[in-house]
Amino acid sequence: MTHHPQMPLRCWAEIDLAALERNLNAIQAALPKPIRYIAVVKADAYGHGMQQTVARLMHAGIDMFAVANISEAATIREIGTGWPILVLSASLEEEEPYLFEYDLIQTISTIDEVQRLDTRGAKLRKKLKVHVKIDTGMGRLGVWHENAIELFEAVRKAEWLVLDGVFTHFSVAERDREFTDLQRERFSKTLESIDWLPKEKLLIHADNSAGIDSFAPDSFYNAVRIGLLQFGISPYPKSLFNRVSTSPIFSFKTRIGVVKTLPKGADISYGRTRTLDRDSVVAVLCAGYGDGVPLIISNRGCALIQGKRCPILGRVTMDQTIVDVTDLEIRPKHGDEACLIGSQDGDEIRLEEFSEWAETISWEILCSITKRVSRVYKTSIATA
Ligand SMILES: *Cc1c(COP(=O)(O)O)cnc(C)c1O
Repeated sequence: MTHHPQMPLRCWAEIDLAALERNLNAIQAALPKPIRYIAVVKADAYGHGMQQTVARLMHAGIDMFAVANISEAATIREIGTGWPILVLSASLEEEEPYLFEYDLIQTISTIDEVQRLDTRGAKLRKKLKVHVKIDTGMGRLGVWHENAIELFEAVRKAEWLVLDGVFTHFSVAERDREFTDLQRERFSKTLESIDWLPKEKLLIHADNSAGIDSFAPDSFYNAVRIGLLQFGISPYPKSLFNRVSTSPIFSFKTRIGVVKTLPKGADISYGRTRTLDRDSVVAVLCAGYGDGVPLIISNRGCALIQGKRCPILGRVTMDQTIVDVTDLEIRPKHGDEACLIGSQDGDEIRLEEFSEWAETISWEILCSITKRVSRVYKTSIATA
């Protein structure tokens, strides 16, 4: 949501676009060349804001964008022209004309899609690029690897479809090397089984952020599809991940609305889930689950104030969250900044840690920071 310039910020996300570019450079440097970089920017660029993120990635020199649907693709087309855009999800029949209109690349899993799109292409007298997806153990989109030949034949016969790429998707790359290797093997065997495939002309890709940790330099892949890692987040707190080091570009901040003293025995917030066991100083923060602070981190998470961890007391509410500031050396003041995700004066709450408190994954937290939270961009020239 764009922020009205006159309104002061009470809960906001800071996004460092120069760090995004540095992360991109670090990932590209860690990959054997020539590998094409497909930047995954679905879901409003993982909550970072499509407009600014995409513009910076265009500037930084990525090769292709990947999105979930045609609306996201149309947004990219409005920002800049020339970049190929892969639609990762299945498109609905009513959406199909836009694939042709915006010159997008559609992911294909079934013969039914091939026939629908080929018929549409014939009607419009326009060709459409497609990437065939192979299901090697994710069980979502893609043709099951043992049934791929028939689908490839259908694509070959479809006059109005142009085969531009082939890909698969890993389900446990961040923690199961053995299963990931099995997926890689199923993928390469499938490609080998189709002797007419013009491999040198195709984009062949499998690796998401977690995948590139097991990316073999001599493999036949010539592209990667990166989302989370370009935003500086490790795919899993206990990842095998060690090939590239990136830094977080996202912080989530708010301010203190009220500071007050409460006696031992006072109850805090809805549901009376917390009773103070000492005389306390509490701060009421200007952010709650209406901003994306998950209810589940009630009595569990903390916020940084003066660079110190201040535990959340009682339930997170829609607009406000109460934290214990009794142990701070200086009593904080109304209006002081509190950091929910990010670093402040020497301590840091990583998104990965925040996600553990919330018993979820980093991807979901980024998608749950709501529209009410203004995104504030830091831009500067990226120095590697
Ligand atoms: C979201 C997505 C990615 C990016 O995954 P990250 O783990 O965020 O790098 C890659 N491929 C597909 C098919 C996806 O849906």
